[in-house]
Amino acid sequence: MPMLRSPILVSIDGFHPDYLERGLTPTLSRLASEGARAAMRPSFPTKTFPNHWTLVTGLVPDHHGITANRMEDKTRPDEAFTMATVDPYWWNEAKPVWVEAEEAGIRSAAMFWPGSAVAWGGTAEGYGSVPDGTMASDWQAFSMQVTNTQRVNSVLDWLRRPADIRPEFVTLYFDTIDSAGHGGGPVGEEIDEALRDVDSHIADLLAGLERLGQPANLVLVSDHGMAPTGSDKMIVLDEIVDASLYRAVESGAYARSTRSGSAARPCAHEMLAQRRYPRALPIWHAPAHSALFLPARYRLDHHHPRFRRGVERRQSWLRSVCPRNGISVHRPRPRLS
Ligand SMILES: [Zn+2]
Repeated sequence: MPMLRSPILVSIDGFHPDYLERGLTPTLSRLASEGARAAMRPSFPTKTFPNHWTLVTGLVPDHHGITANRMEDKTRPDEAFTMATVDPYWWNEAKPVWVEAEEAGIRSAAMFWPGSAVAWGGTAEGYGSVPDGTMASDWQAFSMQVTNTQRVNSVLDWLRRPADIRPEFVTLYFDTIDSAGHGGGPVGEEIDEALRDVDSHIADLLAGLERLGQPANLVLVSDHGMAPTGSDKMIVLDEIVDASLYRAVESGAYARSTRSGSAARPCAHEMLAQRRYPRALPIWHAPAHSALFLPARYRLDHHHPRFRRGVERRQSWLRSVCPRNGISVHRPRPRLS
């Protein structure tokens, strides 16, 4: 029986399209030139979890509910969503493609992907086993200790199985380039070494598929790019706003905060009065009008409660914050290849 052509969805976190032009990624560059290639703009905010969930649900963050890497929710006042959260409550708003596949009788396997350790559609809180909900037939809990070689070998081992337990849809995720970009910036030996490393592992994947005689459609994506920054671009919130007036929910290239319980003065007004950070983009939510003042390109028309949670009051805001020197921030314009 001929082997099915398995789709393999590969995410290379933080891969800026310019990286393809450095002469360091022969495998990726060849795939890009020989295959179909398309430009992609990440959704807002350009963070890892919102954009990976967009890639597998087809919805922008304020429609799929994963609006940040760290979130709060009014109905769960004593907890926060983090990148380790697998409680289905936070994820159930949009169905990922591997759940669609399983429901259609297509066996799937996830070698890491944000949300792939979640029993999607489940109701039990995410500690211990979750008896309801749907997951890929095979998946692994994310660990940076699992090497890129082990990740590739796991995918190949899955595809080596007998047909009745072989996945027909597979995800594969690499964080190496994102980590190098954040650590040393998008230019330099650290990122170059990461580019060579991931490219060689894509080559290993292709060679392994060849040995297996397993035809596959590779879909290589990234969630966002990477931009250089420096101490001259750093915004120190405490220099602008009295620290007692707000509580930070998330910081980085994109920051959110809520008014502190005792805060009486409007923080956003203070921040907007500051003109020395021209790159900062303050937005705020005016509950009286249920309107979020943000450029249309950010596509926050849905006003997801978890966005409102961060920016819901006049005293709250969202702005671009560039962290400390040597750290790079996510930049729009990764490319879908
Ligand atoms: Zn990312």
